[in-house]
Amino acid sequence: MKQLKDYSEEIYKCTKCGFCQAVCPVYRETGLETTVSRGKFTLLHGILTGKVEFSSKIAKYLDMCLGCKACYDFCPSGISAEEIITAARAENNKLNGINLLKRFIIWCFKSNMRLRLLKFTLNIYKKTGLRHIAGKLADKLGKLGEPISIFNLQLKENIEYKKLGPAREKTGLKVVYFPGCIGNYVNSSAKNAVVMVLEKNGIEAQIPENLSCCGISSRSAGDMDTFKMLAEKNISLIPDDIDYLVTDCASCGSAWEFYPELFEGGLNQKAQKLYEKSININKFLDRIDLYIPENIALEKTVTYHDPCHLARFQYVTKEPRRLLQKIPGIDYREMQEADKCCGAAGTFCIVKPGISQAISKNKAQNILDSGADVVCTSCSACKIGISQGLVSLNTKKQVASPVELLARLYIQEENTS
Ligand code: SF4
Ligand code: SF4
Repeated sequence: MKQLKDYSEEIYKCTKCGFCQAVCPVYRETGLETTVSRGKFTLLHGILTGKVEFSSKIAKYLDMCLGCKACYDFCPSGISAEEIITAARAENNKLNGINLLKRFIIWCFKSNMRLRLLKFTLNIYKKTGLRHIAGKLADKLGKLGEPISIFNLQLKENIEYKKLGPAREKTGLKVVYFPGCIGNYVNSSAKNAVVMVLEKNGIEAQIPENLSCCGISSRSAGDMDTFKMLAEKNISLIPDDIDYLVTDCASCGSAWEFYPELFEGGLNQKAQKLYEKSININKFLDRIDLYIPENIALEKTVTYHDPCHLARFQYVTKEPRRLLQKIPGIDYREMQEADKCCGAAGTFCIVKPGISQAISKNKAQNILDSGADVVCTSCSACKIGISQGLVSLNTKKQVASPVELLARLYIQEENTS
Protein backbone atom coordinates (compact mmCIF):
# COMPACT_ATOMS: atom_id res chain seq x y z
CA MET A 1 0.00 0.00 0.00
CA LYS A 2 1.47 3.37 -1.04
CA GLN A 3 2.33 5.97 1.60
CA LEU A 4 2.24 9.76 1.15
CA LYS A 5 6.03 9.90 0.62
CA ASP A 6 5.65 7.50 -2.34
CA TYR A 7 3.68 10.24 -4.10
CA SER A 8 6.23 13.02 -3.51
CA GLU A 9 7.47 13.10 -7.14
CA GLU A 10 3.89 13.24 -8.37
CA ILE A 11 3.05 16.09 -5.97
CA TYR A 12 6.11 18.04 -7.15
CA LYS A 13 4.79 17.74 -10.74
CA CYS A 14 1.98 20.23 -9.95
CA THR A 15 2.77 23.26 -12.17
CA LYS A 16 0.20 25.44 -10.31
CA CYS A 17 -1.63 26.01 -13.60
CA GLY A 18 -4.98 26.09 -11.76
CA PHE A 19 -6.92 24.09 -14.38
CA CYS A 20 -8.30 21.96 -11.52
CA GLN A 21 -10.17 25.02 -10.23
CA ALA A 22 -12.45 24.96 -13.27
CA VAL A 23 -13.86 21.51 -12.50
CA CYS A 24 -13.61 20.95 -8.75
CA PRO A 25 -17.16 20.92 -7.29
CA VAL A 26 -15.88 21.84 -3.81
CA TYR A 27 -13.87 24.79 -5.13
CA ARG A 28 -16.93 25.92 -7.10
CA GLU A 29 -18.84 26.25 -3.82
CA THR A 30 -16.10 27.63 -1.58
CA GLY A 31 -13.76 29.56 -3.87
CA LEU A 32 -11.00 28.59 -1.40
CA GLU A 33 -7.61 27.56 -2.71
CA THR A 34 -7.22 24.99 0.09
CA THR A 35 -10.21 23.04 -1.25
CA VAL A 36 -8.81 22.36 -4.72
CA SER A 37 -6.02 19.90 -5.64
CA ARG A 38 -3.46 22.66 -6.25
CA GLY A 39 -3.91 24.07 -2.76
CA LYS A 40 -3.76 20.64 -1.15
CA PHE A 41 -0.57 19.81 -3.02
CA THR A 42 1.00 23.03 -1.73
CA LEU A 43 0.13 21.92 1.83
CA LEU A 44 1.37 18.38 1.24
CA HIS A 45 4.58 19.71 -0.29
CA GLY A 46 5.05 21.59 2.97
CA ILE A 47 4.49 18.40 4.95
CA LEU A 48 6.88 16.37 2.81
CA THR A 49 9.61 18.98 3.17
CA GLY A 50 9.06 19.27 6.93
CA LYS A 51 7.81 22.89 6.84
CA VAL A 52 4.24 22.00 7.88
CA GLU A 53 3.01 19.34 10.30
CA PHE A 54 -0.13 17.23 10.17
CA SER A 55 -2.75 18.62 12.53
CA SER A 56 -6.51 18.76 13.00
CA LYS A 57 -6.51 21.95 10.87
CA ILE A 58 -4.74 20.15 8.00
CA ALA A 59 -7.21 17.27 8.43
CA LYS A 60 -10.07 19.74 7.83
CA TYR A 61 -8.49 20.84 4.54
CA LEU A 62 -7.96 17.22 3.55
CA ASP A 63 -11.63 16.55 4.28
CA MET A 64 -12.55 19.13 1.62
CA CYS A 65 -12.33 16.64 -1.24
CA LEU A 66 -15.08 14.44 -2.64
CA GLY A 67 -12.64 12.03 -4.23
CA CYS A 68 -14.60 12.55 -7.44
CA LYS A 69 -11.55 12.59 -9.77
CA ALA A 70 -13.06 15.42 -11.85
CA CYS A 71 -9.69 17.23 -11.70
CA TYR A 72 -7.98 14.25 -13.39
CA ASP A 73 -9.58 15.13 -16.74
CA PHE A 74 -8.00 18.60 -16.75
CA CYS A 75 -4.70 18.17 -14.94
CA PRO A 76 -1.90 18.43 -17.55
CA SER A 77 0.53 16.79 -15.10
CA GLY A 78 -1.73 13.76 -14.66
CA ILE A 79 -1.68 13.89 -10.85
CA SER A 80 -3.80 11.33 -8.94
CA ALA A 81 -5.40 13.69 -6.41
CA GLU A 82 -7.83 11.12 -5.00
CA GLU A 83 -5.12 8.55 -4.19
CA ILE A 84 -2.76 11.20 -2.80
CA ILE A 85 -5.40 12.80 -0.57
CA THR A 86 -6.48 9.36 0.70
CA ALA A 87 -2.85 8.52 1.57
CA ALA A 88 -2.50 11.89 3.34
CA ARG A 89 -5.68 11.29 5.35
CA ALA A 90 -4.37 7.86 6.39
CA GLU A 91 -1.09 9.38 7.55
CA ASN A 92 -2.81 12.18 9.45
CA ASN A 93 -5.10 9.62 11.13
CA LYS A 94 -2.08 7.73 12.44
CA LEU A 95 -0.85 10.90 14.15
CA ASN A 96 -4.07 12.65 15.16
CA GLY A 97 -6.80 9.98 15.05
CA ILE A 98 -10.00 9.98 13.00
CA ASN A 99 -12.76 12.57 13.38
CA LEU A 100 -15.40 11.28 15.83
CA LEU A 101 -18.29 11.42 13.35
CA LYS A 102 -16.38 9.47 10.72
CA ARG A 103 -15.26 6.97 13.37
CA PHE A 104 -18.89 6.37 14.37
CA ILE A 105 -19.99 5.75 10.74
CA ILE A 106 -17.09 3.38 10.14
CA TRP A 107 -17.87 1.60 13.43
CA CYS A 108 -21.51 1.04 12.34
CA PHE A 109 -20.55 -0.44 8.98
CA LYS A 110 -17.56 -2.55 10.00
CA SER A 111 -19.52 -5.25 11.84
CA ASN A 112 -22.19 -7.46 10.28
CA MET A 113 -23.78 -7.89 13.69
CA ARG A 114 -24.33 -4.12 13.94
CA LEU A 115 -25.61 -4.07 10.36
CA ARG A 116 -28.11 -6.84 11.24
CA LEU A 117 -29.23 -4.78 14.22
CA LEU A 118 -29.61 -1.79 11.90
CA LYS A 119 -31.71 -3.88 9.52
CA PHE A 120 -33.91 -5.07 12.39
CA THR A 121 -34.41 -1.49 13.65
CA LEU A 122 -35.15 -0.17 10.16
CA ASN A 123 -37.72 -2.92 9.64
CA ILE A 124 -39.51 -1.83 12.80
CA TYR A 125 -39.35 1.79 11.60
CA LYS A 126 -40.77 0.81 8.19
CA LYS A 127 -43.39 -1.74 9.24
CA THR A 128 -44.91 -0.06 12.30
CA GLY A 129 -45.81 3.14 10.47
CA LEU A 130 -43.13 5.16 12.29
CA ARG A 131 -41.66 6.13 8.93
CA HIS A 132 -44.98 7.54 7.85
CA ILE A 133 -45.41 9.53 11.08
CA ALA A 134 -41.82 10.85 10.86
CA GLY A 135 -42.45 11.84 7.22
CA LYS A 136 -45.54 13.87 8.18
CA LEU A 137 -43.60 15.54 10.99
CA ALA A 138 -40.75 16.32 8.58
CA ASP A 139 -43.19 18.05 6.19
CA LYS A 140 -44.35 20.29 9.03
CA LEU A 141 -40.81 21.10 10.18
CA GLY A 142 -39.76 22.52 6.78
CA LYS A 143 -35.96 22.93 6.50
CA LEU A 144 -35.39 21.23 9.86
CA GLY A 145 -37.27 18.16 8.67
CA GLU A 146 -35.18 17.68 5.50
CA PRO A 147 -32.79 15.06 6.98
CA ILE A 148 -35.81 12.89 7.91
CA SER A 149 -37.25 13.21 4.39
CA ILE A 150 -33.87 12.28 2.84
CA PHE A 151 -33.55 9.32 5.24
CA ASN A 152 -37.09 8.13 4.46
CA LEU A 153 -36.42 8.27 0.72
CA GLN A 154 -33.49 5.86 1.14
CA LEU A 155 -35.87 3.29 2.64
CA LYS A 156 -38.41 3.39 -0.19
CA GLU A 157 -38.45 -0.07 -1.78
CA ASN A 158 -39.21 0.28 -5.51
CA ILE A 159 -38.88 -3.42 -6.28
CA GLU A 160 -40.09 -6.35 -4.16
CA TYR A 161 -38.49 -9.68 -5.07
CA LYS A 162 -40.71 -11.92 -7.17
CA LYS A 163 -39.72 -15.15 -8.92
CA LEU A 164 -40.29 -14.45 -12.61
CA GLY A 165 -40.59 -17.00 -15.38
CA PRO A 166 -37.25 -17.20 -17.25
CA ALA A 167 -37.06 -15.78 -20.76
CA ARG A 168 -33.69 -17.35 -21.61
CA GLU A 169 -32.18 -20.84 -21.24
CA LYS A 170 -29.83 -21.30 -18.26
CA THR A 171 -26.40 -20.02 -19.34
CA GLY A 172 -24.31 -22.14 -16.94
CA LEU A 173 -22.19 -19.08 -16.13
CA LYS A 174 -20.76 -19.05 -12.59
CA VAL A 175 -21.75 -15.62 -11.33
CA VAL A 176 -21.36 -14.17 -7.84
CA TYR A 177 -23.30 -11.02 -7.05
CA PHE A 178 -21.91 -8.60 -4.44
CA PRO A 179 -24.86 -6.44 -3.27
CA GLY A 180 -22.96 -4.37 -0.72
CA CYS A 181 -24.17 -3.41 2.75
CA ILE A 182 -26.92 -1.06 1.55
CA GLY A 183 -28.43 -3.82 -0.61
CA ASN A 184 -28.07 -6.41 2.15
CA TYR A 185 -29.11 -4.37 5.17
CA VAL A 186 -30.78 -1.04 4.33
CA ASN A 187 -32.77 -1.19 1.10
CA SER A 188 -32.97 -4.36 -0.98
CA SER A 189 -34.78 -2.80 -3.95
CA ALA A 190 -31.77 -2.55 -6.30
CA LYS A 191 -30.53 -5.95 -5.07
CA ASN A 192 -33.93 -7.57 -5.81
CA ALA A 193 -33.91 -5.99 -9.27
CA VAL A 194 -30.44 -7.36 -10.10
CA VAL A 195 -31.38 -10.88 -8.95
CA MET A 196 -34.67 -10.84 -10.90
CA VAL A 197 -33.11 -9.44 -14.09
CA LEU A 198 -30.31 -12.02 -13.98
CA GLU A 199 -32.76 -14.87 -13.33
CA LYS A 200 -34.99 -13.73 -16.21
CA ASN A 201 -31.91 -13.91 -18.45
CA GLY A 202 -30.95 -17.45 -17.36
CA ILE A 203 -28.35 -16.57 -14.73
CA GLU A 204 -28.62 -17.88 -11.16
CA ALA A 205 -26.23 -15.59 -9.31
CA GLN A 206 -24.82 -16.72 -5.97
CA ILE A 207 -24.77 -14.29 -3.07
CA PRO A 208 -22.39 -15.67 -0.41
CA GLU A 209 -23.60 -15.50 3.20
CA ASN A 210 -22.03 -12.98 5.59
CA LEU A 211 -20.52 -10.61 3.03
CA SER A 212 -19.34 -7.41 4.69
CA CYS A 213 -19.55 -3.79 3.67
CA CYS A 214 -17.12 -3.15 0.78
CA GLY A 215 -15.30 -0.67 3.03
CA ILE A 216 -15.04 2.17 0.53
CA SER A 217 -16.11 4.78 3.09
CA SER A 218 -13.36 3.57 5.48
CA ARG A 219 -10.87 3.93 2.63
CA SER A 220 -11.98 7.45 1.77
CA ALA A 221 -11.75 8.38 5.47
CA GLY A 222 -8.17 7.05 5.45
CA ASP A 223 -8.97 4.15 7.84
CA MET A 224 -6.91 1.59 5.93
CA ASP A 225 -6.94 -1.00 8.76
CA THR A 226 -10.74 -1.27 8.62
CA PHE A 227 -10.72 -1.23 4.80
CA LYS A 228 -8.19 -4.08 4.78
CA MET A 229 -10.13 -6.08 7.39
CA LEU A 230 -13.39 -5.82 5.40
CA ALA A 231 -11.60 -6.57 2.12
CA GLU A 232 -10.05 -9.73 3.55
CA LYS A 233 -13.45 -10.97 4.80
CA ASN A 234 -15.09 -10.39 1.42
CA ILE A 235 -12.24 -11.96 -0.55
CA SER A 236 -12.30 -15.07 1.68
CA LEU A 237 -16.04 -15.63 1.03
CA ILE A 238 -15.90 -15.62 -2.78
CA PRO A 239 -14.38 -18.51 -4.76
CA ASP A 240 -11.98 -17.42 -7.51
CA ASP A 241 -13.12 -20.00 -10.07
CA ILE A 242 -16.13 -17.87 -11.03
CA ASP A 243 -16.80 -16.31 -14.41
CA TYR A 244 -18.05 -12.97 -13.14
CA LEU A 245 -18.26 -10.98 -9.93
CA VAL A 246 -21.20 -8.65 -10.52
CA THR A 247 -21.66 -5.40 -8.61
CA ASP A 248 -24.38 -2.80 -9.06
CA CYS A 249 -23.36 -0.11 -6.57
CA ALA A 250 -20.56 1.99 -8.10
CA SER A 251 -18.77 2.36 -4.76
CA CYS A 252 -18.68 -1.42 -4.16
CA GLY A 253 -17.39 -1.97 -7.70
CA SER A 254 -14.48 0.39 -7.22
CA ALA A 255 -13.62 -1.14 -3.82
CA TRP A 256 -12.71 -4.36 -5.66
CA GLU A 257 -10.25 -2.34 -7.74
CA PHE A 258 -8.41 -1.28 -4.57
CA TYR A 259 -8.41 -4.66 -2.77
CA PRO A 260 -5.32 -6.18 -4.49
CA GLU A 261 -2.93 -3.39 -3.40
CA LEU A 262 -3.82 -4.05 0.26
CA PHE A 263 -2.25 -7.53 0.29
CA GLU A 264 0.79 -9.51 -0.65
CA GLY A 265 1.24 -13.15 -1.66
CA GLY A 266 -1.74 -15.48 -2.08
CA LEU A 267 -4.32 -12.99 -0.91
CA ASN A 268 -3.04 -10.42 -3.38
CA GLN A 269 -3.30 -12.99 -6.20
CA LYS A 270 -6.85 -13.94 -5.23
CA ALA A 271 -7.90 -10.29 -4.89
CA GLN A 272 -6.39 -9.54 -8.30
CA LYS A 273 -8.23 -12.51 -9.88
CA LEU A 274 -11.54 -11.38 -8.38
CA TYR A 275 -10.95 -7.79 -9.44
CA GLU A 276 -10.36 -8.96 -13.02
CA LYS A 277 -13.65 -10.84 -12.89
CA SER A 278 -15.59 -7.96 -11.38
CA ILE A 279 -18.01 -6.18 -13.64
CA ASN A 280 -20.71 -3.58 -13.16
CA ILE A 281 -24.23 -4.88 -13.83
CA ASN A 282 -24.89 -2.30 -16.57
CA LYS A 283 -21.78 -3.46 -18.43
CA PHE A 284 -22.68 -7.12 -17.88
CA LEU A 285 -26.21 -6.67 -19.26
CA ASP A 286 -24.75 -4.78 -22.22
CA ARG A 287 -22.71 -7.88 -23.13
CA ILE A 288 -25.46 -10.49 -23.02
CA ASP A 289 -28.45 -11.15 -25.27
CA LEU A 290 -30.65 -9.15 -22.92
CA TYR A 291 -34.33 -10.03 -22.91
CA ILE A 292 -36.57 -7.03 -23.66
CA PRO A 293 -40.33 -7.68 -23.78
CA GLU A 294 -41.87 -6.30 -26.96
CA ASN A 295 -45.52 -5.69 -26.18
CA ILE A 296 -45.13 -3.66 -23.04
CA ALA A 297 -43.73 -0.22 -22.28
CA LEU A 298 -42.69 1.95 -19.32
CA GLU A 299 -44.02 5.37 -20.19
CA LYS A 300 -41.46 7.47 -18.30
CA THR A 301 -39.16 10.39 -18.98
CA VAL A 302 -35.79 9.42 -17.57
CA THR A 303 -32.40 11.03 -17.06
CA TYR A 304 -29.16 9.48 -15.79
CA HIS A 305 -26.57 10.69 -13.25
CA ASP A 306 -23.05 9.25 -13.59
CA PRO A 307 -21.66 8.14 -10.22
CA CYS A 308 -18.00 9.25 -9.96
CA HIS A 309 -17.07 5.72 -8.86
CA LEU A 310 -18.61 4.30 -12.02
CA ALA A 311 -17.66 6.90 -14.63
CA ARG A 312 -14.16 7.84 -13.53
CA PHE A 313 -13.07 4.74 -11.57
CA GLN A 314 -14.63 1.99 -13.74
CA TYR A 315 -15.15 3.91 -17.01
CA VAL A 316 -18.79 2.80 -17.30
CA THR A 317 -20.88 5.58 -18.85
CA LYS A 318 -22.44 4.38 -22.12
CA GLU A 319 -23.82 1.08 -20.86
CA PRO A 320 -26.41 2.38 -18.35
CA ARG A 321 -27.65 4.90 -20.94
CA ARG A 322 -27.88 2.13 -23.58
CA LEU A 323 -29.81 -0.04 -21.12
CA LEU A 324 -32.30 2.75 -20.41
CA GLN A 325 -32.77 3.44 -24.09
CA LYS A 326 -33.48 -0.24 -24.76
CA ILE A 327 -36.50 -0.12 -22.42
CA PRO A 328 -39.63 0.44 -24.54
CA GLY A 329 -41.54 3.63 -23.72
CA ILE A 330 -38.63 5.44 -22.03
CA ASP A 331 -38.07 8.98 -23.23
CA TYR A 332 -34.40 9.50 -22.34
CA ARG A 333 -33.18 13.03 -21.61
CA GLU A 334 -29.52 13.82 -20.97
CA MET A 335 -29.06 16.29 -18.11
CA GLN A 336 -26.41 19.03 -17.96
CA GLU A 337 -23.24 18.03 -16.08
CA ALA A 338 -24.43 14.44 -15.69
CA ASP A 339 -20.95 13.37 -14.54
CA LYS A 340 -20.61 16.10 -11.90
CA CYS A 341 -20.50 14.67 -8.35
CA CYS A 342 -23.85 14.53 -6.50
CA GLY A 343 -22.28 15.79 -3.27
CA ALA A 344 -22.76 12.68 -1.11
CA ALA A 345 -19.25 11.17 -1.49
CA GLY A 346 -19.22 8.66 1.37
CA THR A 347 -18.87 10.47 4.69
CA PHE A 348 -18.47 13.90 3.02
CA CYS A 349 -22.22 14.63 3.28
CA ILE A 350 -22.07 14.11 7.04
CA VAL A 351 -18.75 15.78 7.74
CA LYS A 352 -19.29 18.78 5.42
CA PRO A 353 -23.10 19.05 5.19
CA GLY A 354 -23.28 22.66 3.95
CA ILE A 355 -21.00 22.18 0.94
CA SER A 356 -22.47 18.77 0.25
CA GLN A 357 -26.02 20.21 0.16
CA ALA A 358 -24.96 23.04 -2.18
CA ILE A 359 -23.41 20.52 -4.61
CA SER A 360 -26.50 18.26 -4.40
CA LYS A 361 -28.74 21.26 -5.09
CA ASN A 362 -26.89 21.99 -8.36
CA LYS A 363 -27.35 18.35 -9.34
CA ALA A 364 -31.07 18.47 -8.53
CA GLN A 365 -31.49 21.66 -10.57
CA ASN A 366 -29.91 19.92 -13.57
CA ILE A 367 -32.32 17.01 -13.04
CA LEU A 368 -35.30 19.38 -12.99
CA ASP A 369 -34.05 21.22 -16.08
CA SER A 370 -33.84 17.91 -17.97
CA GLY A 371 -37.62 17.56 -17.66
CA ALA A 372 -37.30 13.94 -16.47
CA ASP A 373 -39.69 12.46 -13.93
CA VAL A 374 -37.32 9.63 -12.99
CA VAL A 375 -33.62 10.02 -12.26
CA CYS A 376 -31.50 6.92 -12.59
CA THR A 377 -28.11 6.23 -11.10
CA SER A 378 -26.11 3.13 -10.18
CA CYS A 379 -24.81 3.92 -6.71
CA SER A 380 -26.44 3.84 -3.28
CA ALA A 381 -24.42 6.88 -2.12
CA CYS A 382 -25.49 8.90 -5.18
CA LYS A 383 -29.12 8.08 -4.36
CA ILE A 384 -28.54 9.91 -1.05
CA GLY A 385 -26.89 12.91 -2.74
CA ILE A 386 -29.64 13.19 -5.36
CA SER A 387 -32.42 12.87 -2.74
CA GLN A 388 -30.69 15.54 -0.65
CA GLY A 389 -30.72 17.94 -3.63
CA LEU A 390 -34.31 17.15 -4.63
CA VAL A 391 -35.59 17.58 -1.07
CA SER A 392 -33.82 20.94 -0.76
CA LEU A 393 -35.63 22.09 -3.92
CA ASN A 394 -38.87 20.74 -2.49
CA THR A 395 -39.35 18.40 -5.45
CA LYS A 396 -40.36 14.77 -5.65
CA LYS A 397 -38.87 12.52 -8.32
CA GLN A 398 -38.37 8.79 -8.39
CA VAL A 399 -34.71 7.86 -7.88
CA ALA A 400 -33.87 4.36 -9.14
CA SER A 401 -31.14 2.32 -10.78
CA PRO A 402 -31.49 1.47 -14.51
CA VAL A 403 -31.80 -2.21 -13.51
CA GLU A 404 -34.73 -1.37 -11.23
CA LEU A 405 -36.56 0.08 -14.25
CA LEU A 406 -35.84 -3.05 -16.29
CA ALA A 407 -37.12 -5.22 -13.43
CA ARG A 408 -40.25 -3.04 -13.30
CA LEU A 409 -40.78 -3.74 -17.02
CA TYR A 410 -40.43 -7.51 -16.44
CA ILE A 411 -42.90 -7.34 -13.52
CA GLN A 412 -45.37 -5.39 -15.66
CA GLU A 413 -45.10 -8.01 -18.39
CA GLU A 414 -45.69 -10.85 -15.91
CA ASN A 415 -48.71 -9.05 -14.38
CA THR A 416 -50.37 -8.47 -17.77
CA SER A 417 -49.71 -11.96 -19.23
S1 SF4 B 1 -11.09 14.81 -6.55
FE1 SF4 B 1 -12.92 16.14 -6.94
S2 SF4 B 1 -13.27 17.22 -5.02
FE2 SF4 B 1 -11.19 16.36 -4.89
S3 SF4 B 1 -9.83 18.02 -5.61
FE3 SF4 B 1 -10.32 16.74 -7.42
S4 SF4 B 1 -12.15 17.72 -8.35
FE4 SF4 B 1 -11.94 18.56 -6.25
S1 SF4 C 1 -4.46 21.02 -12.80
FE1 SF4 C 1 -2.90 19.63 -11.96
S2 SF4 C 1 -0.93 20.70 -12.38
FE2 SF4 C 1 -2.56 22.22 -12.62
S3 SF4 C 1 -2.72 23.21 -10.60
FE3 SF4 C 1 -4.25 21.56 -10.62
S4 SF4 C 1 -3.14 19.81 -9.72
FE4 SF4 C 1 -1.57 21.31 -10.31
